[in-house]
Amino acid sequence: MNLYELTISDAHALLAKKEISSKDLTRAVLDRIDAVDEKIGAYITVSEETAMGQAEDADKRIGQGGIGPLTGIPMAIKDVMCTEGMVTTCGSKILENFVPPYDATVISKLKQAGAVIVGKANMDEFAMGSSTENSGIKLTRNPWNPDYIPGGSSGGSAAAVAADMCIGALGSDTGGSIRQPASHCGVVGLKPTYGRVSRFGLVAFASSLDQIGPITKRVSDAALVMNVISGYDKRDSTSVPEDVPDFTSALAEGIEGLTIGIPKEYFDTQGLDPQVSEAVTSAVKAIESLGARSIEISLPNSEYVVAVYYIIAPCEASSNLARYDGVKYGIRNTDSEDYLEMYRRTRSSGFGPEVQRRIILGTYALSAGYYDAYYLKASQVRSLILQDFKNAFESCDVIVSPIAPTPAFKIGEKIDDPLTMYLSDIFTLSANLAGIPGMSVPCGFSSSGLPIGLQLMATHFNEEALLKVACNFEKATDYHNRKPKL
Ligand code: GLN
Repeated sequence: MNLYELTISDAHALLAKKEISSKDLTRAVLDRIDAVDEKIGAYITVSEETAMGQAEDADKRIGQGGIGPLTGIPMAIKDVMCTEGMVTTCGSKILENFVPPYDATVISKLKQAGAVIVGKANMDEFAMGSSTENSGIKLTRNPWNPDYIPGGSSGGSAAAVAADMCIGALGSDTGGSIRQPASHCGVVGLKPTYGRVSRFGLVAFASSLDQIGPITKRVSDAALVMNVISGYDKRDSTSVPEDVPDFTSALAEGIEGLTIGIPKEYFDTQGLDPQVSEAVTSAVKAIESLGARSIEISLPNSEYVVAVYYIIAPCEASSNLARYDGVKYGIRNTDSEDYLEMYRRTRSSGFGPEVQRRIILGTYALSAGYYDAYYLKASQVRSLILQDFKNAFESCDVIVSPIAPTPAFKIGEKIDDPLTMYLSDIFTLSANLAGIPGMSVPCGFSSSGLPIGLQLMATHFNEEALLKVACNFEKATDYHNRKPKL
């Protein structure tokens, strides 16, 4: 086996026994990037020198007996998280030269744990998109078939994990951006409960929805990353002072007696590919055969989810993105006569079409006279969506559904039709609106060999239930053992 193919837990075991060094492992990952990233385009920045330096430090630390589960592990970071001294573009031209003077809390935590930051992964500009085609920097291809999108917005992170160009990765999820690319690339993705992981240093898209989480090769690896990145942070006022469990302890538990809820509305959705619904249905059978029982549940406000999200997210984005004015961050247009012209030209050339569309939508929906009709109404329906989940979790422990209506689509297929693109998020948006944790785990392949993911959702702060079901399911199946041919 090649070192770059290792999972976090297997790499950790070899590092702990000193059978390999972090330098060997990091070198293998960097060589793998050299060999295949030209075809995939997962990374915006690869920091060979920094990575090798961190690997050397990790080896010293291991030599002194200071190894933790992520010590010496090469990780890819979605380019939406600030990394001190390393360019952080957020997939946007407007930030193409932005070098943050500080680390996001999750990055400080990874560094304290001794992880190696290999580089920054491509993404849809400001995390707005479902295919990574909205990146202002480059195109990322699906490792399973280069004519297809890797999903988005964390497409670079998911493709890097699937193509063994890192051992694990971080993504961010505002409406599905960890789970959907994980699903399309055949890897594991976990969006934690809102407030579980600090958003300090995460470039804000929609602050009431954004959450950072792991994208990994295995369920157990997601638990290891969660152990490191979770917890209250005084620099993020929305992070929650809730105890952080040892997420790995959930992995050893069985699922006998657990109740799985199947939302009937999700399976009635127009445009649901029969191959996806078959894969999910047989996953439910597999989970039942492990001792869980399934019941039908209802999430009656599901039909409003896309409309509500595409009011709330653009509104918050329009406000968050006001800071990119050519003065404080990134590029500036210098041909302008006055400052208003400078703002206009900087923003018109720095932001791509999807970001501009959302700023305009959000500004309109928040303007006087429209606020009540749009933002306020959307917020009211958002509480109904949350209530749907609260009701559902009275009768089940974990909700199971598809991640996306179809497997990955072709590059270019939906890019000119934003509404069709938005509909591809129909199953993932509700977890962000409700603030609950959601996960994607591989559950099949389409007839053309593209991965299909299973979505698991649980109530607030019950990531352990997701990890438990996902881990038992993974053990009983072998989708995770397949690899794309590169
Ligand atoms: N696809 C959704 C959007 O375009 C979600 C993106 C995300 O989770 N960052 O907004």
